Amino acid sequence: MAICVHDTLSRTVKPLAPREPGTPYRMYCCGPTVYGPAHIGNFRTFILQDVLRRALQMDGVEVLHVRNITDVDDKTIRRSQEEGVSLGEFTQKWTRKFHADCAALNLLPPHIEPSAVEHIPLQVDMIKNLMERGHAYRTPDGSVYFKVRSFPEYGKLSHLEPESLRTQDTNSAGDLHTADEYGREHAHDFALWKARKPEDGRNFWPSPWGEGRPGWHIECSAMSTHYLGGTFDLHGGGVDLCFPHHENEIAQAECSTGERGLAAHWFHCAHLMVDGVKMSKSLGNLYTLDDLRAKGASPAALRYALVAGHYRSQLNFTLKGLSDATSAIAKIQKAARKLLARAGLEPADFAPPEVLETVTTWGIFQKAWDCLRNDLNIPSMLGQLFAALPRATMPGRTLEEVRADLSGLGNLLYVLGIKLFEESAKNAKDPDAADGVNGGANPVIVAGNDGVAAAAQTDVPEAIRELAERRKKAKEARDYATADALRAQLEGLGWKLTDSKAGHILTPL
Ligand SMILES: [Zn+2]
Repeated sequence: MAICVHDTLSRTVKPLAPREPGTPYRMYCCGPTVYGPAHIGNFRTFILQDVLRRALQMDGVEVLHVRNITDVDDKTIRRSQEEGVSLGEFTQKWTRKFHADCAALNLLPPHIEPSAVEHIPLQVDMIKNLMERGHAYRTPDGSVYFKVRSFPEYGKLSHLEPESLRTQDTNSAGDLHTADEYGREHAHDFALWKARKPEDGRNFWPSPWGEGRPGWHIECSAMSTHYLGGTFDLHGGGVDLCFPHHENEIAQAECSTGERGLAAHWFHCAHLMVDGVKMSKSLGNLYTLDDLRAKGASPAALRYALVAGHYRSQLNFTLKGLSDATSAIAKIQKAARKLLARAGLEPADFAPPEVLETVTTWGIFQKAWDCLRNDLNIPSMLGQLFAALPRATMPGRTLEEVRADLSGLGNLLYVLGIKLFEESAKNAKDPDAADGVNGGANPVIVAGNDGVAAAAQTDVPEAIRELAERRKKAKEARDYATADALRAQLEGLGWKLTDSKAGHILTPL
């Protein structure tokens, strides 16, 4: 039985198998708009897609993964002009930042990552095709719109009734979406081509309808069908993209190719909440990877925290959850060390190869893997994993069993994308590293009095050391309320602070 996940179109949990046997599993995921750093809500979706890809790979399915870069829209144009740089220079800077964040979060790079700007002729061709087939019209200003009434199946993905069809101004997450504010015939219609406006500056391209630029939705239809064909296996994105973006992608692609069933499977990930509310800049809860690194979190802990909930349920992200993720990784690491020692292996032997052979052994973790394969149920999988860990480390298991368990655990962590020993492997090569750093179990003294060496200081994030310093100063100034609050904050971030004669000691919780 293949891996199953929910499909928004059929509203069922269906197996994932290549539409054409013997060909790679073709998946298209909507990528970032590169006008600033991606936030953790964006990354939750990208990480879940990455877990799905790894799970398929682990199941012996070859995957072809395409994810686009949106490098032209109102925001990219406006922000590049505010900075006084070209659109290309501006979007390249943020594309590089996106790639760096993805690498830190251990996301496998897509096999193809097309940019909208580099595929404008392809988009113009698709719009021409839609005009010829009677699915689009030009307005007097030189913009082109998709005629929603020309496609009776419109609404089939988001399951909207024609009479209750919302306008293009509100997306499926209930957010206002005001990208298409030109003179369309009908409120349901959406822009395929936007006529050049003075505020676009130098950012316009030629077309049969005059100078301008493509609407946002057309890039995904043009690039997905170009690289994966008129029908492919899976299309993914955040739930907010279901309507109107994905609905419009279906309309554009199916009307221009004449084929039905753009994607066999529509994989949508639920929204991320922060501290129980929607993320927003005004609330100050819109976190990026750098924001959380500055608070002392590791990218691995963030990745764990973002995948720990079910992809179909809203995940409530909190700093407490992030510190729980750090503890959970430490717990798995501790058990893995025991198993490695029993098998006579080193942490370096633990990481499974990037290119996997067919996996046959899951040991005591078979049930955990079965949970993952059933609707990508990561919470159940983690429940099974933590239930199995004490049994795996019980005395009396044979060497063969221990080796099978290690293989199973390594495979599960590969699918989750958590590299258990990467940091410690680096530290192990450092002759100056203090004993016990690798296990994370021994105290790490980070601020000594009287010149006591700050052993293994590099193992403690800068932001944590700063917090500990601030707490030390508060205590010296007898501001005990602040000192206590800072100690609590450190604990929330996964660090226990203890005072000693040598200075304060920070211990990972
Ligand atoms: Zn898209």
